[in-house]
Amino acid sequence: MAENESRVALVTGGSRGIGRASVLTLARDGFDVSFCYQSNEEAALSLEKEAQEFGVRVISRKVDVRDAELVRAFVAETEETLAPIDVAVTAAGITRDNPLLLMKDEEWHQVLDVNLDGVYNVCRSVVFSMMKRKSGAIINISSVAGVYGNPTQSNYSASKAGIIGFSRALAKEVGGYGIRANVVAPGFIDTDMTSVLSGGAKEKALAAVPLRRLGRADEVAELVSYLASDKAGYITGSVFQIDGGITL
Ligand code: NAD
Repeated sequence: MAENESRVALVTGGSRGIGRASVLTLARDGFDVSFCYQSNEEAALSLEKEAQEFGVRVISRKVDVRDAELVRAFVAETEETLAPIDVAVTAAGITRDNPLLLMKDEEWHQVLDVNLDGVYNVCRSVVFSMMKRKSGAIINISSVAGVYGNPTQSNYSASKAGIIGFSRALAKEVGGYGIRANVVAPGFIDTDMTSVLSGGAKEKALAAVPLRRLGRADEVAELVSYLASDKAGYITGSVFQIDGGITL
């Protein structure tokens, strides 16, 4: 990035966990950041302030990524307030675990709506402006569950596998416009999402991690920021596992 050139990153699910860490890391790395959150305005405002300390502009909006109209308006407002979006990071995601036999239709649809439709809504909204400028980086957050599957997570695994297929198709479609689309597939990361697991489930998962610890959100964010940067200029359509070796 040339000195004094402002670049804009949009992050979904920004107020917590991996999204929050991505906001801070991208701000540290010189991006103006626009992020959305689902409900916690207080956390969002406090994050805005924290990220602004890096000397960049940071705005946040309450946006449900399932709502295509709201996402479109959020993207338009970001481009009007800051500048055209160079980088989109889709970190908003939920789990509703249940064995398939017990899964409720609403658990299936909720997870697909947030995790997959949400990614579609964001990418659909940012891609035209990126195509016009012949530049852009999209980083979609999947999961190792989307690569290998996870019992009791057929809904989540399907949504995260969908993100991989979607991102690879997009990478082929828009590579000629200078747009890169990559996937980050975390393993077991220490966030609110995993804090709900019982002690026993955590211990069992940890025993399968060669590095013998949970990952940190800031470690995932470093990978996100690398993929957002020009250093990753020849990387597209790739899936990066960051999982302490759990899938070995
Ligand atoms: P988290 O629960 O801490 O954060 C999820 C974020 O998504 C929250 O900010 C929440 O407000 C937002 N969100 C949820 N529904 C939304 C909606 N409808 N509209 C807008 N925002 C919404 O979880 P996390 O661990 O930080 O997860 C971030 C991403 O990483 C998710 O996509 C998750 O599936 C993925 N992931 C997490 C792990 C892990 O171990 N924590 C592992 C693999 C993948």
